[in-house]
Amino acid sequence: MSRVLVVEDEPDIAMVLRMLLERAGHEVAHGADGRQGLRMMHEKRPDLVLLDIGLPVMDGWVVLERIRDVSEVPVLLLTAHGLEADKVRGLRGGADDYLTKPFSSKELLARVEALLRRADRASAEAGTEVYDDGTLRVDHRARRVYASGDEIEVNATEYRLLSTFVRHRDAVLSPRQLLRLVWDDESGVGADRVKFAILRLRRKLGWSADDSPIRAARGMGYRYSPPR
Ligand code: CA
Repeated sequence: MSRVLVVEDEPDIAMVLRMLLERAGHEVAHGADGRQGLRMMHEKRPDLVLLDIGLPVMDGWVVLERIRDVSEVPVLLLTAHGLEADKVRGLRGGADDYLTKPFSSKELLARVEALLRRADRASAEAGTEVYDDGTLRVDHRARRVYASGDEIEVNATEYRLLSTFVRHRDAVLSPRQLLRLVWDDESGVGADRVKFAILRLRRKLGWSADDSPIRAARGMGYRYSPPR
């Protein structure tokens, strides 16, 4: 059983989400506007957040930003607009996945389970190992990341991306492989998700495209090459 926070202002949709999630065995908390959602976030410490973008008081973008300031909890965005720009903005803002309304209950539950599974696996993999190549240090036990000695705050997706890269260092990973390994997504659709996540991660680590250990292998994918 996981704790899921639903931040959604439309009572009908919130009710359906609660019903679906509870039937799937999860504990559900609900916030009906952005501010309430953030309060529930602090009170309930959810394992996953379903976040509507169009919210009163404080919209979903602001809520996402505030969540990412303090937590790497997986966030699944819900939006009524099927706009490409929203999707890009959401993934850039640190959301883990994105669902456009209206969605089927099957699709919703599949995404929720995938995100929860991924978060579980990430904590299970957080064994004893510490990876350190002088530039990058990944402490798998504490789930902490350091670049040139400074601790960097990363979200769950970024952490998984980085630990996947260092586990497969010097190997080229295709966007499809990365989607499977990091996002648990077998469809292979959404190479832009990979691209934006890598751009964001590089920026956080203070690496430019030219001197980054994470390099694009043109037309093939990306590779982490430890500095020599
Ligand atoms: Ca709404």
